[in-house]
Amino acid sequence: MNGCLSKEFNKCIFVRLKIYTMSLESELQVRSSNACELCSATTDLSIYEVKPVSTGGVDGSLLACSTCISQIDNSDTTDANHWRCLNDSMWSEHRAVKLIAWRMLSRLKNEGWPQDLLDMLYLEDADLRFAKETGEHLDDSEKIIHRDANGAILQAGDSVVLIKDLKVKGSSLVAKQGTAVRRISLDRENAKYIEGKVGPTQIVIITDYVKKMAEKE
Ligand SMILES: [Zn+2]
Repeated sequence: MNGCLSKEFNKCIFVRLKIYTMSLESELQVRSSNACELCSATTDLSIYEVKPVSTGGVDGSLLACSTCISQIDNSDTTDANHWRCLNDSMWSEHRAVKLIAWRMLSRLKNEGWPQDLLDMLYLEDADLRFAKETGEHLDDSEKIIHRDANGAILQAGDSVVLIKDLKVKGSSLVAKQGTAVRRISLDRENAKYIEGKVGPTQIVIITDYVKKMAEKE
């Protein structure tokens, strides 16, 4: 064993990944009739995975246009009028669409009409908990910003790496420096705490001891 993967094996993984993405995309294209599932635009469509990505797949993804995606990801550029499209799309039967509708309406609720729509939008308990993970429903003053050791903002679903060995309280486990913790969740009460899995164990980690990993790491 020299620790290297053969060229053939790499190629095989690549092909399989490609088939997986293709089929997710085509499933979403069929589901949406090739239109943005939020605003019905038919150009610049791509797959959007609802953060924090815990399931991905068809259930956790939607097909959306670049305008919708950029506004979902940047609250600074949100144009309330664009989101009047939710009037229709919030009634979608698809979980991913409902989650984004709930988050965007929550973000815009001070405009009035979004609050009226929000009052009519029903989510199952588990989906509501998931929808709240990004904190859109909180007023600015209530929002707690989590930052890593370098001051980078952490969001639910991010991956972080431990920058020192951490003893896990109440167990003999030591989480080693350099350990990657994927898909963190944030403590909504305390900006210093995040949660994530080290091996099979869910642990609480203090943000001072982590560094955010780049998207594709
Ligand atoms: Zn759109």
